[in-house]
Amino acid sequence: MKNLLQENYPLRSLSTFLIGGTAKYFARSRDLQEVLDLMNWAKSENLPVHVLGRGSDILFADGVIEALFIKYENQELAALGEGRYRVASALPLNYLLMRLARDGWEDAHSLIGIPGTVGGAVWANAGAYGQEFADIVESVKVIFLDEPELQIKDLKKEECFFQYRDSIFKHRPALVFETIVRCQNKTVDQEALMKKMVEILKSRHCKQPLNYPNAGSIFKNVSVTDEIQQLLGTNFPHNKIPAAWLIEQVGLKGFRIGDAQFSEKHANFIVNLGQAKANDVLDLLALAKQKVEDHFKMKLEEELIYIK
Ligand SMILES: Cc1cc2nc3c(=O)[nH]c(=O)nc-3n(C[C@H](O)[C@H](O)[C@H](O)COP(=O)(O)OP(=O)(O)OC[C@H]3O[C@@H](n4cnc5c(N)ncnc54)[C@H](O)[C@@H]3O)c2cc1C
Repeated sequence: MKNLLQENYPLRSLSTFLIGGTAKYFARSRDLQEVLDLMNWAKSENLPVHVLGRGSDILFADGVIEALFIKYENQELAALGEGRYRVASALPLNYLLMRLARDGWEDAHSLIGIPGTVGGAVWANAGAYGQEFADIVESVKVIFLDEPELQIKDLKKEECFFQYRDSIFKHRPALVFETIVRCQNKTVDQEALMKKMVEILKSRHCKQPLNYPNAGSIFKNVSVTDEIQQLLGTNFPHNKIPAAWLIEQVGLKGFRIGDAQFSEKHANFIVNLGQAKANDVLDLLALAKQKVEDHFKMKLEEELIYIK
């Protein structure tokens, strides 16, 4: 098992942001027992464990992080019939979504283009255009890392406490290793479904700065009341003010510290123009939070996960 451990591993290579220092230990395996053994070893060494998917929602700190970073790399997908699928966590989300669409299911098609794994989508309850991953979850197999003995638990959907970009897994360290997905809405027009998905992909390419390394939306959108929308003179759907709008209003769109920049294309994305440091990104986050608080009396909350 210890032969899987790589010491002083460059974290930037494990994140779509291409930012970060060094992992004290890194290991990858498709074998659940090997991953369990590694996690038990880390426990015995008092080392924190960080489970990684594709790294599309993560900012790693600069410097050395004294922890074990693990990638469980099983990507198996099995159709169980009647819209149910057993999916291992490392399967790319887009691969799953294409398979569901090919089989005629439209339950989660709007998530197409979210660049992570199925495990990451469960963890964050990833969502877009009114759909979220929880819509297709029947149950989740997980190992909670804060228990004295590491053991497999089978959680029903209700036990995952999914909410807007939230789940129980955000509040307890865990390895999500398998999900039972259940679709219920069969399309009547598969060609139209595929076209819709292509349109969503095109729209993402138009609106998002995909030509630079980034980690998706940095802040969550902010829920407000009707009164606040009236005061602001806005009419955003579902009473959610886009974080991008707030950042733009306080004059930070395009603002740059070092090689980190609030994108000129989409202000709620920070792009890495080359050699950005985590500290540059953290400075941008602090600045945006301060300005939005001063100007709008609203608190921005990070969607990006910071690991230090
Ligand atoms: C260009 C771009 C567009 C994006 N658009 C969207 C969008 O529209 N909607 C949206 O919701 N998100 C979006 N994201 C963010 C991101 O893609 C999602 O949050 C995605 O679900 C993260 O998956 P991941 O595998 O990359 O997770 P990672 O970034 O690797 O990890 C994120 C967190 O999940 C945990 N985690 C990952 N896998 C597991 C596992 N198997 N078990 C336990 N914990 C795990 C990690 O510990 C970490 O804390 C976007 C990102 C980018 C770069």
